[in-house]
Parts: sequence; structure tokens; C-alpha cells
Amino acid sequence: MSDDLDTVPQFRSDVTVDLVRSAAADSDVVWAARVSTAGEQSLEALQQDPEKSTGLINFLMRDRHGTPFEHNSMTFFISAPIFVFREFHRHRSGWSYNEESGRYRELQPVFYVPGADRKLVQEGRPGRYEFVDGTEKQHAVVADSMEAAYQASYRAYQEMLDAGVAREVARAVLPVGLFSSMYATCNARSLMHFLSLRTKAENAKVPSFPQREIEMVAEQMEAKWAELMPLTHAAFEKHGRVAP
Ligand SMILES: Cc1cc2nc3c(=O)[nH]c(=O)nc-3n(C[C@H](O)[C@H](O)[C@H](O)COP(=O)(O)OP(=O)(O)OC[C@H]3O[C@@H](n4cnc5c(N)ncnc54)[C@H](O)[C@@H]3O)c2cc1C
Repeated sequence: MSDDLDTVPQFRSDVTVDLVRSAAADSDVVWAARVSTAGEQSLEALQQDPEKSTGLINFLMRDRHGTPFEHNSMTFFISAPIFVFREFHRHRSGWSYNEESGRYRELQPVFYVPGADRKLVQEGRPGRYEFVDGTEKQHAVVADSMEAAYQASYRAYQEMLDAGVAREVARAVLPVGLFSSMYATCNARSLMHFLSLRTKAENAKVPSFPQREIEMVAEQMEAKWAELMPLTHAAFEKHGRVAP
């Protein structure tokens, strides 16, 4: 038996988001919008205090003039389970993705197990259901079942690799709770659309009911974006979290 077969799996209940690169500021919204009326003088908006343009940013958000919110860029490095990425990659417009490959690298045994605060029980009907806390016993069943299944599947994966089978074939046994990593690049407009669908907020004009794990990613992205573009973020909140 190879050393690889003794690899100890890791179980995580968190997701991580790092902002690795950004060119994004409230003033980017202002100069892009001001070209309508000021032409080449719109770049002077770069020198101005963006606070002075709070009214303009709110107007653009409220009336859904979306394009001035596209002239910026944020790149995030995200570690999350594969089932989160399956949902994430449905967001097509204004997003670029690159993810680690199960063909070119041996996938690491890092798996998702819900934490103690993850609500486990679904009540109600689809589209109108709520999640409530699980009992201690339910949490124990979830952790035991997931860990046993993860260990068995990773062992099968390694047995195949050990026998000389290609990674792209062996990976078929790995579950969607396996962690993956990717870069995701977006702009404020595409991020707002994502946030409107992948977070649950009391003040949302159009409520959404996302899976908690993608919401955990979305919340971290939103916090980083709000630091870069506080006025735009405040306008998004004020106008009911509707992407312009
Ligand atoms: C709570 C929830 C439950 C979901 N459940 C399911 C499910 O059960 N099954 C399932 O398959 N998916 C499901 N989804 C995924 C959903 O259908 C969308 O694929 C996902 O939310 C991405 O939304 P989007 O297409 O608006 O985003 P993007 O792809 O980023 O598109 C942004 C916007 O661009 C425009 N656009 C993009 N592409 C086109 C196009 N081809 N034609 C016209 N306009 C376009 C639209 O205005 C769109 O809103 C769910 C999503 C959520 C939030």
C-alpha cells in the first residue's frame, strides 16, 4: 500500500474568499456616468470626492442605469465545495472563471461537513420553505455519514491512481462535497446580480432563498466589495438589493 493511501482527509465547515486583485472605486461609476454630459471632462470626476456624487450613484441604482457599474474589476480566490461551484458557474454574464483541474492534478482530500450552526431541517414547500436547526443527533448522523462516505470514496480514488489509472478517470468516484478552488473575476454590476440571488436579506425587494453554502461565499465577497465601493454598496442596499 502506498503512502498516498494513508492520506488523512480533512473536514471543513467554512469557505474562504480572498480578494486577490481589484481596480474598483466609487469614482469609476461617476466618470463612466458623467461622459454622457461632460464628454472628455468626465475624467475630472477622478479628482473629486466621490461623496459629492452620492446622489448620482443613487439615481443610477434606482433607475437601473447599469452600465456605469461595469467599469471596474475584482478578482476573488475562492475555496469551497464543488457543489457551491456548480451553482456559482451558472452566473454567466460579467464573470470569468478558472478552476483547479481534476485532470492535471491529484485532488486533495479536503471535504465539507456542515458546522454546528448550519440549519439542517427543511420545512414547508419548495420556493417557500424554511430551514430550522437540527438536533444534536442529526448533526452527529450528518458528520458520521459524510466522513465515512468521503473516506471510502477518497480511498477508492487513491486505489485507482495507485493502479496507474488516469486522474481524469479515477475522479469519477469523488463527491461534490470535495473542496475545489477557483479565481472568479467580476464587476460591480455582475456582483450585485449574483448577490441579489445568492444572499437572503430582509430588505431585498425580490427575496431569494439561496443554499447556505453559496451564501457564505457571497457574504464574504460582499464585505470585500463594500470596502472598495462603499457608496455603491450603500445605494444597492438602499434600493432593495436589485442589480441595476
Ligand atoms: C434560489 C435559486 C434556486 C435555483 N434553482 C435552480 C434549479 O433548480 N435548476 C436550475 O437549473 N437552476 C437553478 N438556479 C440557477 C438559476 O436558474 C440561474 O442559472 C442562476 O441564478 C444564474 O442567474 P442568471 O442567469 O440571471 O445569471 P447570469 O448568467 O449571470 O445572467 C445575468 C443576466 O444576463 C441576462 N442573460 C444571461 N444569459 C442570457 C441568455 N442566454 N438569454 C437572455 N438573457 C441572458 C439575464 O438578464 C440574466 O439575468 C437557481 C438559482 C437560485 C438563486
